[in-house]
This record gives sequence, C-alpha cells and structure tokens, in this order.
Amino acid sequence: MPNAHDIILSRNQIDSIVAHAVSGLPNEVCGILAGRGNRVFDVIPIKNADPSPVGYFMDTSQQIRAIRMMRKKGLNQVGIYHSHTESDALPSAKDVELAFHPGPAYVILSLAGLHPELKAFEINKGLVKERFIVIDRNLKATEGVDDV
Ligand SMILES: [Zn+2]
Repeated sequence: MPNAHDIILSRNQIDSIVAHAVSGLPNEVCGILAGRGNRVFDVIPIKNADPSPVGYFMDTSQQIRAIRMMRKKGLNQVGIYHSHTESDALPSAKDVELAFHPGPAYVILSLAGLHPELKAFEINKGLVKERFIVIDRNLKATEGVDDV
C-alpha cells in the first residue's frame, strides 16, 4: 500500500514527462501533475517562460489556465515537475528557495545520466524530504479522468 506521501504515476505518464523534457533540450521544461490525493491523472506541460539549462519559470497565464481547468474537473495539483539537463534529480538551491507551496510534490526528471532519473520531493520551508514514486500498472485507472 502506498502511503500518504507517495506519488502515484503510470508508466505512460512518466514516458510523457521524459518526452517533454527531451523536446525542451538544452533547456529545462516544467509542468503540472494534476490528480486526486496523491494519484496523478494528467501530465500538463507548461511553457518555461525563462528558458535556461539551469532553471525554469512557469508561464503564469498557462499555469492559471491549467489550474482553472483542473478545478473544473475536480482535480488538484498533486505535483509540479521540471527537468534537469545537466545535474542529478535533486532540488537545486534555487529550487528549494523558490518552493513556495508545501502541498504538491516537486518532481524532478534528470537527463544528465545514461538513463532518465525521476525523483519526487516534499519541500517545506527549506526542508527537503524525498517521496517515493509508485508506478501504477493499472493504466485505465490513471489515464484521464474522462474515462473514469
Ligand atoms: Zn531544478
């Protein structure tokens, strides 16, 4: 049984985060993981308004639009994701400093190594705790709320 601090994703969702990150190279990409509880239903790419290989800033209008759409569907922000192109999947000092929301998991995908590496963290007032990523093999349950 996953515990309350885990984040539950399907393989397809992980694949789409990896594909998004690869498409944004050499810069970081970012997005929102929408869902219920700790289970992700939708991976929502958000434009990086400050494109850089070492940082990101979510485009505010796209972010607001995504949050409105989530509210309409009854979803909440399970996580926020971004990629690291040249460093490990660990929050940078800037990531910790800019983590204003203690609720959602901070999911980081690193493309620095031989294989993509995905990790999740809880960042609260400068304190970083790793969260487990649980892969849900039951794709039906997590692919899009409209099917549920
Ligand atoms: Zn980062």
